[in-house]
Amino acid sequence: MKFEAIERETVILDPGNNMQRKTIPSEIRKDPLTGRTSRICHFMPLKWEKPDFDQLVAGTVKFCPFCPDKIMKVTPCFPEDIVPEGRMVLDDKVLFPNIAPYDSLGAVATLGDRHYIPMTDFEPERLADGFRLALKFFHQVDKINHPESVYHLVSMNYMPASGSTLVHPHYQVFATAYAPNQLREELQAAKSYMKKNGTIYWDDLVQAETAGKDRFLGRIGRSNWMTVFAPLGVAGDVVAVVDGTHTTLDLLDDDLTDLACGLNNLMAAYDKMGIYNFNISFFPGAAGNNFTRFHLVFSPRTFFSQALGTPDVAALRNLGNEGICMAFPEDINKMLKKAF
Ligand SMILES: [Zn+2]
Repeated sequence: MKFEAIERETVILDPGNNMQRKTIPSEIRKDPLTGRTSRICHFMPLKWEKPDFDQLVAGTVKFCPFCPDKIMKVTPCFPEDIVPEGRMVLDDKVLFPNIAPYDSLGAVATLGDRHYIPMTDFEPERLADGFRLALKFFHQVDKINHPESVYHLVSMNYMPASGSTLVHPHYQVFATAYAPNQLREELQAAKSYMKKNGTIYWDDLVQAETAGKDRFLGRIGRSNWMTVFAPLGVAGDVVAVVDGTHTTLDLLDDDLTDLACGLNNLMAAYDKMGIYNFNISFFPGAAGNNFTRFHLVFSPRTFFSQALGTPDVAALRNLGNEGICMAFPEDINKMLKKAF
């Protein structure tokens, strides 16, 4: 396993110090699987100011379609041939069709009645129950041989900087025959990796990171938690690889609890830095993709300027697909490790 980092130095004449020479370090890192690069640069302390949440949340309940007084009235139902009961329900969590689908088979799963849940207040069981609903939906569409039942994806956009327009916590749940770009590139690379090395890249990564310790966070059941060497997120990404799996449908009930526990740990740790927005995405193989392992990625999100509403994704990341991370992932690991 090759973790390649190319160190760079920028020399400027510093107006804050009599125009003396000053060097600014940065690093270009290559993802060991895909070769996609990330920049470790713009170093700053990972400490953000949180807004006044009472003010942020006030007024959003009234129009929230996911709150208990409205959800069963305003959300759509699936046709009988897809989900006979229309919506899937687990305690206070509800899964229904996404009115803004990404392709033909999209759903949303709410994480219960509570409209706003701070990152320190998500119970693992709540997160796990949301995954349970998603899995129930995926098994259903697989049972009816739906043509989109190929890649079974769950993602979460939590709070505005993540891209969410709703405060009420929910998962995006969709099955598609077309893998999103990052997943497709990873799968192609993992297939080539197996052809070349005879092993599964993700198993080798877990082994290398467990031995290396700089980026390993911990193991919960069959899930292995690690900070990502070449992250996309400005405050680093965390990946959880689940042993013995290839697809989302391979996840066992215990895995869902374990993944939820790990995510709960991450939320608590990132909250301490002042982070209050994040994305989660599943990265599964399709049936028969024995060269990969199911993994999920947690990526904290923030505003570069809260006053201006400046997002943490600018041209280099959006159009160049280049990761920008403002601290060494190994230093971020130290801040997260206490939670595992
Ligand atoms: Zn709500």
